[in-house]
Amino acid sequence: MFLPQEIIRKKRDGGAMSAEEIQFFVRGITDGSVSEGQIAALAMAVFFNDMTMDERVAFTLAMRDSGQVLDWRGLNLPGPVVDKHSTGGVGDVVSLLLGPMIAACGGFVPMISGRGLGHTGGTLDKFDAIPGYCTVPDNELFRKVVQEVGVAIIGQTASLAPSDKRFYSIRDVTATVESVAMITGSILSKKLSAGLDALVMDVKVGSGAFMPTYDKSVELAESIVAVGNGAGMHTSALLTDMNESLAPYAGNALEVRGAMDYLTGRSRPARLHEVTMALCAEMLVLGKLADTEVAARAKLQAALDSGAAAERFSRMVAALGGPADLIEQPDLYLEKAPIVLPVPALKAGYAASTDCRGIGLAVVSLGGGRRRPSDAIDFAVGLTELAGLGDKIEAGQPLALVHARSEAAAQQAIAEIQAAYHISDSAPTANPVVYRAIRP
Ligand code: URA
Repeated sequence: MFLPQEIIRKKRDGGAMSAEEIQFFVRGITDGSVSEGQIAALAMAVFFNDMTMDERVAFTLAMRDSGQVLDWRGLNLPGPVVDKHSTGGVGDVVSLLLGPMIAACGGFVPMISGRGLGHTGGTLDKFDAIPGYCTVPDNELFRKVVQEVGVAIIGQTASLAPSDKRFYSIRDVTATVESVAMITGSILSKKLSAGLDALVMDVKVGSGAFMPTYDKSVELAESIVAVGNGAGMHTSALLTDMNESLAPYAGNALEVRGAMDYLTGRSRPARLHEVTMALCAEMLVLGKLADTEVAARAKLQAALDSGAAAERFSRMVAALGGPADLIEQPDLYLEKAPIVLPVPALKAGYAASTDCRGIGLAVVSLGGGRRRPSDAIDFAVGLTELAGLGDKIEAGQPLALVHARSEAAAQQAIAEIQAAYHISDSAPTANPVVYRAIRP
């Protein structure tokens, strides 16, 4: 018999909670028997006194078990069930590429993705830009698409890790989101409930990253790798750069177009390619679909070159209700913004740094993201042809093209992009694209 206030007291005083105490508390979060005040108090106690790795594993597993846990074993899939998760970025279309690429290499990817948060884009919003594509299929269709196509990218359902939904909404309004222990539990409980064999985590670093410093990104990556493996899921993490948009475009329908151009080989921007290949290779090795990183990369390149990855993307879109010829005829289906204007550079020099968060927020102010959770999204708007860091720029030369719904929105975004680029007289030293890997 446990009392919530005694568990809170223990954590307040710096003690370690037992797995049973954590399970009791998380059950109370789910069934409502623990009050909002008690949840807030525990969150604050954890914020200050942290959780040991054992506590984090117990907390993550308890949150996973608060709802439905998918089980793929009954399907006898001839490959591992794998997925990637990212802490969120700008112009980050990796999920749209990685899912089909891994499927073409023999993996099975049941990707449960989220909506945009703050300045970052959300994979789910990108798929909502495709007419007819159903991001909330029933479980039967989800399983069928994963089995037959090898990849299905859908939205979070209320039945997976419901305790996290309540816990996160209370953390959000009590200044307790920024705790590596609780972020770890929140992310991994949802990923574990998808029944994965292996997970690769993309932890972003830089001015557009969720974690505020390089060291904090490392701390989160190490925590996720330790807890993921502790919970029985092969997990590794890559630290990747988010000091500028990953692709030279951002915005929902624009990113879908960009992803299809990547898969068909029409355009494969270098930084996007490097991060995508690194995450995919890590996943193939972790899922035992390749023995070495070199072998994994060769397999992935072959899946791109043969058109197999593009074909998986098309089949997934069609199987989930979207147009079967989206890749062939994107203009028939993807909305275009009526106003496209260049962003003139205010001075000559080199693009030395960007406030990547500011670039993401410019997409939000164009209507491509949400200010409030209930806001509708304008899928057509966004940015293309973003200048890369290190590019030499003449005064007046475009830093990007703004795709807007109105002249006023375009002008506002132009000012925001101009403010987000720092142009200097000398060329900056290039940031690594992949900083390091963290493995168990
Ligand atoms: N994303 C999540 O899903 N949970 C967190 O706690 C933070 C970011």
